[in-house]
Amino acid sequence: MTIKRLKLKISGMTCEHCASSIEKSLVQAGVIEANISYLAKGGTVSIDLRKTTLDDVLAAVQSRGHYRVVDVLELNSGESSSARHLIIIGGGSAAFAAALQAHDLRARVTMINDGLPIGGTCVNVGCVPSKILIRAAHDLHLACQHPFAGIAKTAKLVDFSALMSQVKEMVAALQKQKYIDVIKDLTHFEYIQGRAQIASPNTVEVNGKTIYGDAIIVASGASPSVPTIPGLEDVHFLTNESLYNLQTLPEHLIILGGSFIGLETAQMFARFGSKVTIIERLPQILASESADIVAELSRHLRNEGIEILTSARTLSVNETGGRVRMHVQAEDKEMYLNGTHLFLATGRRGNTDNLTSDKLELERNRQGFLKVDEYLQTKLPSVFAAGDVIGGHMFVYTAAMEGKLAALNALTDSKQKADYNIVPRVVFTDPQFASVGYDQQGATAAGFSAETITLEIKHIPRFITANEQRGFIQLTRERDSDQLLGARVIAPEGGELIMQIAMALKFGATVADLREMLHPYLTASEGVKLAAITFTKNLEQLSCCAT
Ligand SMILES: Cc1cc2nc3c(=O)[nH]c(=O)nc-3n(C[C@H](O)[C@H](O)[C@H](O)COP(=O)(O)OP(=O)(O)OC[C@H]3O[C@@H](n4cnc5c(N)ncnc54)[C@H](O)[C@@H]3O)c2cc1C
Repeated sequence: MTIKRLKLKISGMTCEHCASSIEKSLVQAGVIEANISYLAKGGTVSIDLRKTTLDDVLAAVQSRGHYRVVDVLELNSGESSSARHLIIIGGGSAAFAAALQAHDLRARVTMINDGLPIGGTCVNVGCVPSKILIRAAHDLHLACQHPFAGIAKTAKLVDFSALMSQVKEMVAALQKQKYIDVIKDLTHFEYIQGRAQIASPNTVEVNGKTIYGDAIIVASGASPSVPTIPGLEDVHFLTNESLYNLQTLPEHLIILGGSFIGLETAQMFARFGSKVTIIERLPQILASESADIVAELSRHLRNEGIEILTSARTLSVNETGGRVRMHVQAEDKEMYLNGTHLFLATGRRGNTDNLTSDKLELERNRQGFLKVDEYLQTKLPSVFAAGDVIGGHMFVYTAAMEGKLAALNALTDSKQKADYNIVPRVVFTDPQFASVGYDQQGATAAGFSAETITLEIKHIPRFITANEQRGFIQLTRERDSDQLLGARVIAPEGGELIMQIAMALKFGATVADLREMLHPYLTASEGVKLAAITFTKNLEQLSCCAT
């Protein structure tokens, strides 16, 4: 091994300025990386023995002022001579999963994060604040709109800013518990706040320093993609990075984009009392889903007063007197919308601008997402990538899976492939839309002789007792073998139902397996069994606890 890490004890420093001047002379002397701290009374350096000797290091320290190296510890031999150094760019879910895997492999880890606070999108400006607000909106809605006699329907949002403060507190608590506290006790781990740039296949520059790593993982995430619309540059708009700072409830929220972020946000604000308009450029919301799914979900959203415009082009936008005026062409009609707030949910862009120095290039597509192979390796063998920055399935659980795998592949010879065979997905509207595996169209396109049944949830005892009629369960199977191929669910808490089907898919279950499994009566999951029965029997002719 030609790279050596040394821990230096240095005398004579009186402030952090001394530390940075020592770092400078060490770098001039050719060390790969120097981290010196006045408070620590020393620091660490990495040297390439083919280019730099210990004497060079000692001389570099002594060349400045009256500083002296009073002790040297060779870290490589003190720790493990094979300890490898992984640099992770990003501080979100993919980065953390990579760091913990690397830690388990006894590697040394440097995590560099900038932009979003530690924890990245999910905890700060994504999954967590959105799901807290969705839940609050759900509870408010249910209190006002429940279907039972004799109970008042009187709940009211009285203090939006108090709710938003509570969201901030809950986010901060989870950020501490799941990110800050997790790294506190990691050994051989360093967190650096700063913007990282890959300078060479094995070095990263941050805060004016160059750090050497045996491998680099890019986990820099994605940001809201801002569409080109005449006038937009002069308009205040919200994205998921600013939405959760709102202190007053929008009177009329216009949402650009009818995919999952747009839909979840729309329903949440409509339930709080905002007027909400969704503008979708394509002929339908949830572009890749089948027409029956889209029709069912659209119906329930519209029933709550949400306006949905499809095949809608925004011709221009401007802001006057605190209102956002949008000129829109929807289908064949031109119209002007006059909102108080505009929220962009028009897709995401990979955070790869200025990620590499001019001399180096990583392949990326037009949306800035990095190209990786099935091992999550870029075309530079020492550089891997994981999470939203590689596009594809942009969920926190796929980001975590990829982060872990990237670390494993970067630090060992394991060569494991990312497996996207079974990726359950949930849109957290109410009713939720959840899916896994194939639908009828996908299964047919993949060459299966497929068959799909649909069971409306009004036939499921759990939902009958809840007076709930919205949604259905759809199962798809291979006709001859009875092999389960996938499912689509629209139902309250449909995300919980989908995992039963995801497990069944993972273990190659047939529809008969689902049908024959005992399901407790009056659970929502019994609906999956009833849907399985529907392939062969008419439910209406069966009694309770049908089999
Ligand atoms: C509104 C919303 C709701 C969502 N809800 C869900 C949900 O319910 N369930 C779900 O599974 N997923 C959800 N997601 C998706 C999920 O949040 C993301 O897939 C996940 O957080 C991505 O994690 P990541 O580690 O890849 O990136 P991030 O968490 O974005 O982390 C990347 C970090 O790297 C930083 N960075 C970028 N460039 C550099 C650089 N050069 N140097 C240093 N640091 C850099 C970034 O600022 C950021 O801090 C939601 C997303 C949004 C926007």
